Amino acid sequence: MAENTIERIEEKKDKIIAKNIRRVYQIKATENNAGHEFEAIKELNLVVKQGELLAIVGPSGCGKSTFLDMLAGLEKPTSGEIFMDDKKITGPALDRGIVLQGYALFPWRTVRKNVEFGLEIKKIPEKERYAISERYIDLVGLSKFADRYPYELSGGMKQRVAIARALAYDPDVLLMDEPFAAVDAQTRESLQEELLRIWEKTKKTIVFVTHGIDEAVFLADRVAVMTANPGTVKEIVTIDLPRPRDGIRSSAEFGWVRHKIWQLLQNDTESAVKEGIGNTDVAGSIAPTASL
Ligand code: ADP
Ligand code: MG
Repeated sequence: MAENTIERIEEKKDKIIAKNIRRVYQIKATENNAGHEFEAIKELNLVVKQGELLAIVGPSGCGKSTFLDMLAGLEKPTSGEIFMDDKKITGPALDRGIVLQGYALFPWRTVRKNVEFGLEIKKIPEKERYAISERYIDLVGLSKFADRYPYELSGGMKQRVAIARALAYDPDVLLMDEPFAAVDAQTRESLQEELLRIWEKTKKTIVFVTHGIDEAVFLADRVAVMTANPGTVKEIVTIDLPRPRDGIRSSAEFGWVRHKIWQLLQNDTESAVKEGIGNTDVAGSIAPTASL
């Protein structure tokens, strides 16, 4: 792997291109409010490079999940288009694996059977399925738990199963929506390290949505900073920190990049408040070290 993140990214081809995305929700009338349109996302443009780990960071409600759902093909933009490998995304497909915040495992299936789910859909024969699930269960360090049911696992273990399940059917792209938000801080850090290890092994393209600045900086090659009202990508910050990143959180460079992203989000909130369209909850919740 090249030392320099910027050079490495520039060499890669465009994997996903989102062009001028807009998403409007129709808000239904209630007794007290007239129905109206709500513009959740506006003029969102983004290119994800082949093999990169791109994080999308932004305050709650800025449209991160809406956008990720569009990449997954679960949501449609009101206008604009998204292309993957030059083909327009029109619906979900097995070329994109999804890992969500909730663990979303099938409670009636063991770890192994959860991991084999996508392989069953792909009609892969049983023996081969077993070999593949064995490999990915091992990759996420759960070999001893293959025959357990989700209720017998900790939150961190469940999230490892979700990652193994998404990887097992070998999608080109892994889409992750705040996948580690529900686990404790220590488990989160070990899952982040594990994700980087898996990423380096599998060379997948990963789009990782988070509201944690630290998490984005620790993981990503580039961080797309989103702002709200309406949601858009304000800036893309290249994270030119060396890999492997073990122990990097305490470095001055890490602190500097984190602060830069924090400022981007902070400035936006301040200007929005001045214009009278701000959300003071967002302003109050932004802290450089904590989650947004
Ligand atoms: P994030 O993931 O960044 O927290 P979301 O993508 O979930 O934000 O939501 C973006 C905005 O769109 C929010 O203001 C949310 O309330 C609104 N929104 C999301 N889904 C719907 C929906 N089905 N109907 C109306 N508004 C929605
Ligand atoms: Mg969300």
